[in-house]
Parts: sequence; structure tokens; C-alpha cells
Amino acid sequence: MLARNGWRISTPKPANRAINKVEDVIDAKTGQWDTQKMSMEIPVEVMHAILEIPLAHVGRTDQLVWHFNPNGCYSVKSGYHIALQNQSEKVPNTPETSFKLEKEVWKVLWKMKAPNKVKNFWWHVCRNILATKENLFKRRCAKDNLCPICDCEVETVDHMLFLCPWANMVWFGCNIKPFGDLRGNGSAVKWTDDMVKVLGTNKATEFMGRVAAIAWHIWKGRNDFVFKKGTVNPQRTVDSIRHMEREISSIHVISTVQMDNPLNQEETSTWRAPDVGRLKANCDVALPKSGKKGKAVAMLRNWKGKMMEGVARSVHIASSLGGELYAIRAACEMLLSLGLKEVEVESDNKQAIALSVSELVPPWSV
Ligand SMILES: [Zn+2]
Repeated sequence: MLARNGWRISTPKPANRAINKVEDVIDAKTGQWDTQKMSMEIPVEVMHAILEIPLAHVGRTDQLVWHFNPNGCYSVKSGYHIALQNQSEKVPNTPETSFKLEKEVWKVLWKMKAPNKVKNFWWHVCRNILATKENLFKRRCAKDNLCPICDCEVETVDHMLFLCPWANMVWFGCNIKPFGDLRGNGSAVKWTDDMVKVLGTNKATEFMGRVAAIAWHIWKGRNDFVFKKGTVNPQRTVDSIRHMEREISSIHVISTVQMDNPLNQEETSTWRAPDVGRLKANCDVALPKSGKKGKAVAMLRNWKGKMMEGVARSVHIASSLGGELYAIRAACEMLLSLGLKEVEVESDNKQAIALSVSELVPPWSV
């Protein structure tokens, strides 16, 4: 009982009682617990808990004991473990407690078509136990909670893997639309749950395997940036993702999947290369669900599909048309800054294209 209470007596100390120290309830002659004295002063359940603590038969001086370690000695490892435990108990509504995946969903996730290290990684994502800056800051292991790459938003799991501009470029480079509805910390878990339930086991193992593999590479790229003091390179990351995908399956053509609308999962489109020797910029937008910023992304590729440059911007977007136009503008600015004028710019929004190439005055809302 005392162990459960952190070695504290749970009942308050009654006033005007003679017991103040441990030695007050030890018989000075026998060196054992003074049960008679205790029975008069201490509630019976507390007394039983105290009596379970063995006393030394030989006289020895008192010493401090770290009861979290079997040998009674303090170690940094055990201290860190306890600090983490205390901290997590103090943080209410952490994602791992606010939304948990059901056993059935986990069964599907463990069957994902991905290497074990990726499955393991996705388990960490869904439990929100990755060492993101947000999590480290909560546990007082980091000075701040800001993303080490963009340095302007809190590095949650969602931000790190999906919302950070460089991560956006990687998803874009893999022809997967960035998550449009990930806005809160831990919403990747809810999204995973939705996807598994909407797609069913077979499709989910394939699709989530791919998502997890891409996210794993983003995590790896982020760690190289932080620990090896390198730079993030979306193209290098996309190349290693493709390499892994070739190893996993024989699928070479990457399809575009509407990540933020599971009902459109089957909708695919193939990237059309520009003429040999030419470049092409693709634009896209990830709309926010409410209030917050969306993402406008533009990616420049050569005729072989190799990514040459990219830009991703967080922006307040009022409509899908406005977002698409912003992405086209971001693409044009990127091309201008590179001194490129003869480049094909592609968007999947016909109205945005029409407005961009004509002299029409856009609607006031745009
Ligand atoms: Zn960031």
C-alpha cells in the first residue's frame, strides 16, 4: 500500500499525537516495530502496511534508499524513467489517451506492406511517442517546442511528418496530396483509423504501408538534419522512398491519391512529362478544414520526372480556387527567382488556369 502511494502514508497525521518520526514507532530494546504504540495512534490499514516493511535485526545506521531500483541505488536511467512517468501523468488529454486505435485496426496495421522498422515507426506515430520537439519540451528535455527545420511552428507529429513545408514537398514529390485535414496534434491517429475502416484490410495494408514508409523517410531526413547537422533535401528523400518502394513491390507508377477524401481513393492520375529537355511546374493546394492556414505547393520537375526545385507556403486560404491561384503564383515566383521563363505550369483546377492565362478580372472573393 505504501508503495502504491509513493511510500507516503495516505491518511493525514492526527493532531497532538506522539508519533513524529519513524524511530518513534520502533521499540528501542528489540529494534522491531512497536505494534502496541502504533495500534493506538495509527489507522489499522496504515499499520499493516508499515508492518510489512522489514527492519534490520542488527544495528546499523540509516541510509537513503532509491526504492525504484532493486539494488536501492539511484541511477540516471531509473530517475529519467520516473520523471517521464510523472510528467505524462501531469499532461492531461495527451493523444495516446484521447484517441486509441482499436485492436482490429492494429491487426491491419501490423500487416502493412512495409518493412518492420516502418511498422514499428507507425506504432510510435499512433501512440504519439516520437521524440518530437513538442514531446521533448513537455518532458523538459528541450528548450522550446519549435520545429527545428522551419522554426516557426510547434513540432507536433502532424507538423513534422505532414505539415512542415519540406515534408509537404516530399508528399508532393511522391504524388500524394498532403493531408488537408490534419490540424490538431494527434489527428494522424484518427486519420489512420478512418483510412483502415474506409479502405478495408487489403487496400489499407497497401496504402497505409506506403504512407508509413514515406513518413518514415521524412522522419529519417528530419533526424539527419537535427543530429548530423545536414540539410533537408526533398528530392533525396523522394529518391530513397522510391528505392524502398521498388524493393517492397513491383509498383513503379505512383498514383495520385486524394488523401483528404477517402472516397476518392480510386481516383488516379498520371503525371505527364514535358517535352524532352523541358521543365514543368506542378501546383497544388491543401485546404485547411477551418480557420487555420492551408498549404500551397509548387514543384519543378524535369522531363525525366526528377524534382529540381520546390516551394511550399502556409497561407490563409478562403476557397479552393483562391488556394490554387496562390499555388500558381508561388510557382511563377519560384520560376522567376530561378530566371526561368519557358516552363509549363500545371494545375488541376480549370478555373484557376483560365483566370491565370486570360485578362479576366478574378471574382472579388479570390
Ligand atoms: Zn516545420
